[in-house]
Amino acid sequence: MGKVFRFHSYLSCGLLLAAMAPLFLPGGCRGETDVEGRYRALREAMVARQIADRGVRHEGVLAAMRKVPRHLFVPPHLRPLAYGDHPLPIGEGQTISQPYIVALMTEALAPDRSMKVLEIGTGSGYQAAVLAELCREVFTIEIIPSLARKAQEILGRTYPNVRVRIGDGYRGWPEEAPFDAVIVTCSPRAVPEPLIAQLREGGRMIIPVGEAGAQELVLLKKEKGRLRRHSILPVRFVPMVDPRGGIY
Ligand code: SAH
Repeated sequence: MGKVFRFHSYLSCGLLLAAMAPLFLPGGCRGETDVEGRYRALREAMVARQIADRGVRHEGVLAAMRKVPRHLFVPPHLRPLAYGDHPLPIGEGQTISQPYIVALMTEALAPDRSMKVLEIGTGSGYQAAVLAELCREVFTIEIIPSLARKAQEILGRTYPNVRVRIGDGYRGWPEEAPFDAVIVTCSPRAVPEPLIAQLREGGRMIIPVGEAGAQELVLLKKEKGRLRRHSILPVRFVPMVDPRGGIY
């Protein structure tokens, strides 16, 4: 009996110590968990109020937006603002899109596990991460080398199904074509012909097109070799540029 009692008291003592352990952990360690928890709560609120309430229904897209740690894709001093209802600067004069726009564009592609997707305009890598949660493979092209390298570094840690290339996305990625879907996150004046050619029959492309100040987000579906075009909404994206800095 005494033995059993002692065993129990050791056990409860151990449990008590385990429960108190967080109190003895170094502050930094505890702090980090708290911060991640707070970011998770901000992410939940972002999906509920900015995305689901505005009509995005695709369960996979909502789950991906709840999962991907957007704050890690923005410059450290802007992390507290990462879950706000707006785009943010990511350096080199470029921006990460507003969360709602990322969700809307992703849903428009009707993503699923079987898909091979091409993205033009890697930027922070955030959109690529959201796609990587939903699709088989993501190929993404960024024209500014420093942004491409930063995105590669963060994506490489978590998403082996993403490949980042430094280059001019106007030309697409012909060696990997055809793609089931193409997403363009910078804006040319007209839809680039090479991207149309690299979209498979039955595939979808989402792209902001038009003059600066009058761009429209457009969904294109390739059906029987022809493109069906649906306007989604007016938007403001950074321009698609050529290697000499001119605007496409
Ligand atoms: N999808 C990004 C947002 C990118 S902003 C994200 O989730 O963060 C648009 C990006 O397109 C910028 O980084 C810009 O440098 C890039 N870009 C502009 N013209 C391009 C081109 N011709 N080819 C590839 N990337 C281009």
